[in-house]
Amino acid sequence: MAEPLLRLEGVGKDYPHPSGRGVLRALDRVSLALEAGQALGLAGQSGAGKSTLARLILGLEAPTEGRILWKGRDLAGLGRRRRRRLRRQVQIVWQDPFVYLNPYETVRDLIAEPMEVLGTASGRKLEERTYALLDLVGLPIHCLKARPHELSGGQCQRVAIARALAPEPELLICDEALSSLDSAQQAAVLKLLAQLRKRSAMSYLFISHDLASLAWLCPRIAVLKAGRVLEQGPTAAILTHPAHPYTQALIEASFWPPHPVQHLPD
Ligand code: ADP
Repeated sequence: MAEPLLRLEGVGKDYPHPSGRGVLRALDRVSLALEAGQALGLAGQSGAGKSTLARLILGLEAPTEGRILWKGRDLAGLGRRRRRRLRRQVQIVWQDPFVYLNPYETVRDLIAEPMEVLGTASGRKLEERTYALLDLVGLPIHCLKARPHELSGGQCQRVAIARALAPEPELLICDEALSSLDSAQQAAVLKLLAQLRKRSAMSYLFISHDLASLAWLCPRIAVLKAGRVLEQGPTAAILTHPAHPYTQALIEASFWPPHPVQHLPD
């Protein structure tokens, strides 16, 4: 069988315990796989270890134990060149775009910057690609001159998505990408992500406490609690027959139908 794009084998991550004594086990023996072109949902309440997992996959931190394999290669053993390539291949959209988008940059610069830095486009091609990305995420051309504070939260998150797509990644991680938005904007960005998923061969890791939005986007989900994967498998099977009361609680706490996204025109 072909090697999955991403595979986690028995991944654990410890941090110093806030009390100053011992360690806090943020992740414990996490094993997951994501096939190329697929979308995996990672569900769990706050503190479950979801963002820690995202940081490990991005290579921002190293696991305390276990292995993270990208196309079969352990991230721990990647040389400088491959690590730089990984930085381009895996992109992330974080929760609050107002926090991580530079407030002094225009939308044009925010989207163009990754391509300029990576040297993937320049001159006219760079401007054309910037405009194409703006269009792809459903923003009008006059937004190019705007700065983040002149946009709504939903528009800002669209800019963040365009910026993440600019380096043409193979994996897009969305870490609570809808959580800072109001419900109408959540529905609109959810719809955009669903459209992107249909149109491209990219792989996705969607991270959320909201099982309903994960169910909309992902054929497979994994449920994380206190750093451990409680269950994983086809979304429909987990939603209809959750194996764990924690999953049941997540289902009940989710923003279930009628979800506004179902009422939006195509
Ligand atoms: P989630 O994204 O599911 O809300 P996190 O991955 O942010 O969960 O956190 C999981 C646990 O690890 C929490 O108890 C959190 O306090 C702890 N944690 C996360 N990052 C750090 C860190 N850099 N230092 C110490 N503890 C951390």
